[in-house]
Amino acid sequence: MIVLEHVGKQYPDGSVAVGDLSLTIPRGALVALVGPSGCGKSTTLKMVNRLIEPTSGRILVDGEDVLKADPVELRRGIGYVIQQVGLFPHQTIRENVATVPTLLRWNRSRARARADELLDLVGLDPSTYADRYPHQLSGGQRQRVGVARALAADPPVLLMDEPFGAVDPIVRERLQDEFLRLQHDLGKTVMFVTHDIDEAVRLGDRVAVLAGGGDLRQYDSPAAVLGKPADDFVAECVGADRGLRRLAVTPIDVADLEDAPLVREDATVADARRVAEEAGVSSALVVDDAERLVGWAPSDHLEGSSDLRVRPMKASVHRSATLKDAWSVMLRYDAGWVAVLDDDRRLLGVLTPDSLHAALRRSVRVTEPV
Ligand code: ADP
Ligand code: MG
Repeated sequence: MIVLEHVGKQYPDGSVAVGDLSLTIPRGALVALVGPSGCGKSTTLKMVNRLIEPTSGRILVDGEDVLKADPVELRRGIGYVIQQVGLFPHQTIRENVATVPTLLRWNRSRARARADELLDLVGLDPSTYADRYPHQLSGGQRQRVGVARALAADPPVLLMDEPFGAVDPIVRERLQDEFLRLQHDLGKTVMFVTHDIDEAVRLGDRVAVLAGGGDLRQYDSPAAVLGKPADDFVAECVGADRGLRRLAVTPIDVADLEDAPLVREDATVADARRVAEEAGVSSALVVDDAERLVGWAPSDHLEGSSDLRVRPMKASVHRSATLKDAWSVMLRYDAGWVAVLDDDRRLLGVLTPDSLHAALRRSVRVTEPV
């Protein structure tokens, strides 16, 4: 959807913001450009919508050479979100969001309806916020308005330049979550610039790591960037705790799960003790007829001849969870295993510290670049 071919930007004073950058961004992908301050991230982004003219190379958006396009037309098809948001202070939130539809001469009621729909989409109730002015909103709310405005004309491409950089870490994480959900539904092609590697691996389908002068050092899946940094520069960028970061970006794979000793609700204590002993552990999981998790029967209940006493199994995660989710559940409940469940709470298997470790090691191998 976006192709950069040997793109460069040299300023008249001779300084090279971007030397020779080639990058292909697949349709519908969210690509995070990450690198230290001054490495040419913003310059790269602004060349795509021609806020900055490249001095060499070629940029194609959906097959069209942007240098041959009319810049105003071009920018209407490309949403642009920046850290400073750039809302017009004397316009209401609704008017701000309707900026592009208004430029496109949509009639008033259609532009208005579209603005309200988008405010809703980014989690701002229009009946509360649409008639306010930007200074009456928090930083996080203004940032949401910035996203809504960029989406107003439903552009296929979004350029985002450190859009969540100005808000505190908790709000930032919430905005990232909201944006991920939004992107899941909208499927835009997104170029997302950040200097924060955590943000890059969290949001990106692919991560492009840049060194000074727009020097592309690695272009890979988040798991591969964290697990197999291409060189010392990338390793330095992702830091010493990259193993932990990798947990956060690696989904559970059903193939990684282990079988747990299982009994049905109507099993006897002797049954439970037997399956637990066969598995070499001290407790068994209890499921109903449909394989749904009911709980667990700990070892002290497996002795004697009383009825099976089932305790609730809190250490469980949905199959869409990440390895980090599973790990933190395991720590929170001090559990030796975590049950992985499907949508109907059916037990798919368990993760133990060993299988978590194996899954993490495997993740780098299986997560090939798109
Ligand atoms: P980033 O967004 O990665 O922090 P930028 O793309 O904004 O970096 O800038 C890349 C480099 O280009 C920086 O070293 C910056 O100083 C330089 N630069 C930006 N604008 C100009 C300009 N008008 N003249 C000369 N150099 C510039
Ligand atoms: Mg920048």
